[in-house]
Amino acid sequence: MTAHDPNCIFCKIISGQIPSKKVYEDDDLFAFHDIHPWAPVHFLLVPKLHIASMVHLGTEHERLMGRLMVLAPKLAAEQGCNPYPEGGFRMVCNTGTEGGQEVHHLHVHVMGGPRPWLRG
Ligand code: AMP
Ligand code: ZN
Repeated sequence: MTAHDPNCIFCKIISGQIPSKKVYEDDDLFAFHDIHPWAPVHFLLVPKLHIASMVHLGTEHERLMGRLMVLAPKLAAEQGCNPYPEGGFRMVCNTGTEGGQEVHHLHVHVMGGPRPWLRG
C-alpha cells in the first residue's frame, strides 16, 4: 500500500490540497470536522498513511491504531463533548460498502454533545 493515494479525498485533506477545519495533527494522525455533522460534535480521526479500510490493517499498524484510540477521548473533550458518564461520545468506523463506508481512507467518526442528534 502506498503512503498516499493521489485520488483520495482524505489524502488531499491531510496534505492541505483540499481545505478542512482541522482539529488536530501530529506526524501520524490527522483530525478534521465532518462536512455534514450528525451531532453537535462530529469530527473524523484518520491515520495520515493511506490505509483503505480496517480490512487493510496489519500488525505493523497496531501502534498507530492504538495511538488513534487513546487520542480520541482527549480530542472529544477538547471539542466539547461532555464528561463521561453523563456525556461521552460515539466512535464509528464504517468498513466496506455494506458497512456504510463511502470514503476509502480509514477514518473513525467521533460524535458527541447534547442530544437530540440529527442522526444516530
Ligand atoms: P463514511 O460513510 O464513513 O465513509 O463517511 C465519510 C464521511 O466523510 C461523511 O460523514 C462525509 O460527510 C465526510 N466528508 C466527505 N467529504 C468531506 C470533506 N471534504 N470534509 C469533511 N468531511 C467530509
Ligand atoms: Zn487516502
